Amino acid sequence: MLPTSLRVVVVVAMLSVVVAPGDRGAAEPGHDAGLEPHWLSDIVSRSDQAGAEAFEMRVVVAADEEFVRARGPGWASEARAVVMGAADLMGQVDLALTVTRVTRWESPPGRLPDLVGDAVSQVGLPPDALLVALTSQSSNGSPTYDGWASASRPVIVIKVTDPYRPTLPSLVAHEIGHMLGLDEHGSDHRGDDDGCLMVGTGYRNGERWCPEDEEAVARALASLP
Ligand SMILES: [Zn+2]
Ligand SMILES: [Zn+2]
Repeated sequence: MLPTSLRVVVVVAMLSVVVAPGDRGAAEPGHDAGLEPHWLSDIVSRSDQAGAEAFEMRVVVAADEEFVRARGPGWASEARAVVMGAADLMGQVDLALTVTRVTRWESPPGRLPDLVGDAVSQVGLPPDALLVALTSQSSNGSPTYDGWASASRPVIVIKVTDPYRPTLPSLVAHEIGHMLGLDEHGSDHRGDDDGCLMVGTGYRNGERWCPEDEEAVARALASLP
């Protein structure tokens, strides 16, 4: 018989895998909630463009062979567009996205979490940008994920079955939210989080950041030199 508190944790962890196999769901060991990730100053700078958002995140996009095959000659601009689809949502927290490079990678069969290492070893970890690896593999193993944000490196893997899927911008923004240090809402979340991008089960329809998340991002960005 488990103590009640532990049982709750077990149930929550199972739910996030079984009911909401959307992305990195369960608690991540070693992640200190409320502290900005150590890579933030590498991938985000204060913007020097007048009239633009105050901060800029650089992104390297890598498309796998299935993405390239499915999209054809326009694959590079479509890969860029997958990331830039989240531009408006990121603008809500004063962050502009700049794609600095579009490249390719070859995805082996596997779950999204397992593909992080493959993308990094092929593309290299950009010294000054977030790596967003796109995969259009039809099967990624079980459980399936829409997206995965590494807990230890500035790397995201996004599954793209349809680059024009209406929920894709929310997925990309949700994963970037993790990169900015945000965790998914737990049962202890206060206040109205309806429609928030960091709701674990509801980010697909997210269209805004809740006040807590906005404040957390602002605090993290304010710490940048
Ligand atoms: Zn998540
Ligand atoms: Zn929120």
